[in-house]
Amino acid sequence: MLLLSGPNISGNEWKYIKECLDTAWVSSVGSYVTRFEEMIADYVGAKYAVACVNGTNALHIALQLSGVHREEHVIVPNITFIASVNSIKYCGAEPILVDVDKDTWQMDLDLLENWLEKYTYKVDEGVGSRPVRTVSYSVFSNKPIAAIMPVHVLGNMVDMKRLTTLCKKYHLKIVEDATEALGSYYKNKHAGTFGEFGCFSFNGNKIITTGGGGMIVTNNKSLAQKAKHLTTQAKSDPFEYIHDEIGYNYRLVNVLAAIGVAQMEQLPEFIRRKHEIDAFYKKELSGVGDIQFQKVLSGVNPNHWLFTFKTEKQKELLDILNKNQLQSRPFWVPMNRLKMFKKDYYINENDISGQVYRSCLSIPCSTNITYSDMQKVVDTIKSVF
Ligand SMILES: *Cc1c(COP(=O)(O)O)cnc(C)c1O
Repeated sequence: MLLLSGPNISGNEWKYIKECLDTAWVSSVGSYVTRFEEMIADYVGAKYAVACVNGTNALHIALQLSGVHREEHVIVPNITFIASVNSIKYCGAEPILVDVDKDTWQMDLDLLENWLEKYTYKVDEGVGSRPVRTVSYSVFSNKPIAAIMPVHVLGNMVDMKRLTTLCKKYHLKIVEDATEALGSYYKNKHAGTFGEFGCFSFNGNKIITTGGGGMIVTNNKSLAQKAKHLTTQAKSDPFEYIHDEIGYNYRLVNVLAAIGVAQMEQLPEFIRRKHEIDAFYKKELSGVGDIQFQKVLSGVNPNHWLFTFKTEKQKELLDILNKNQLQSRPFWVPMNRLKMFKKDYYINENDISGQVYRSCLSIPCSTNITYSDMQKVVDTIKSVF
């Protein structure tokens, strides 16, 4: 089976893991966790990075530290992996789902801006007569909108300047789900560094992997310290078991961080490969039937993590590719269609999510794929048109 987006373990992984095993530094203490955190922070241009057990937990902690409470809203695109919306629910908060743009497949900012303008009102919440913060409320629920979670779907991004301007105007904290976007930039600024927090994932299918792992990045020292505290059981005394809040066991272990360090050493090469793969498929598939590629806005330099395209022949293609051991996948079922989120508010006019879901598919694009395997994928696709 040719994998959709499999791990590429060809660097110092064995060497670093062996070092962990030889020295028995396998668990929560050891130098690789710090090294991995520093490498990610350096790479994305954030001051601090806190390693987590996975990307989902990273999102959960980032939301909690953004001050997202029960019965508050978080805005999130309707096309995303379920972990984005689950992390909102973990906080007891309620998602507001936003339909996506038909070409970029990211959150539709026209729809969002229009909705914020028409259906929110602002409240100054303060102590005594002094307002401490202004919060936007939804007219439908009369509940505050605490934050927005842009998801950089497939490593692509929206117009981040427009998004950050909107967030300032409506007082929305930004927690970026940059789990798919390590190596993606908007105007030379790395994904995950536009708001207070950005989150990354190192699951097996991501651009680098630690088997499972995640990272929170931020420029705020005290928030970084709080993130470390919360992800390590909130222990407040170095010796005694005194804990000062309900914490989590969300830390990344040293042995996995060791893999992360080895993977980070190869990231520039992985990104170069992803760009080559993207260029190859685009050259071979452009003009074939009704195939359309994901639109990338000017100013965005994506990592091209997962090669995905749109066609009315999605079902047929998925069928023939998978039958030929060329692992291919449809897009995620839109969040508003899942039973847990059916009652949540969904901002849309034409349910573009539904169309995107029905017509997009992702094809094999691991960084270690060969040209002859890519050619096989292309020939199989062409045989259907
Ligand atoms: C992978 C992914 C996550 C979750 O990351 P895990 O490390 O698997 O928990 C969250 N959101 C999106 C969009 C993802 O693709």
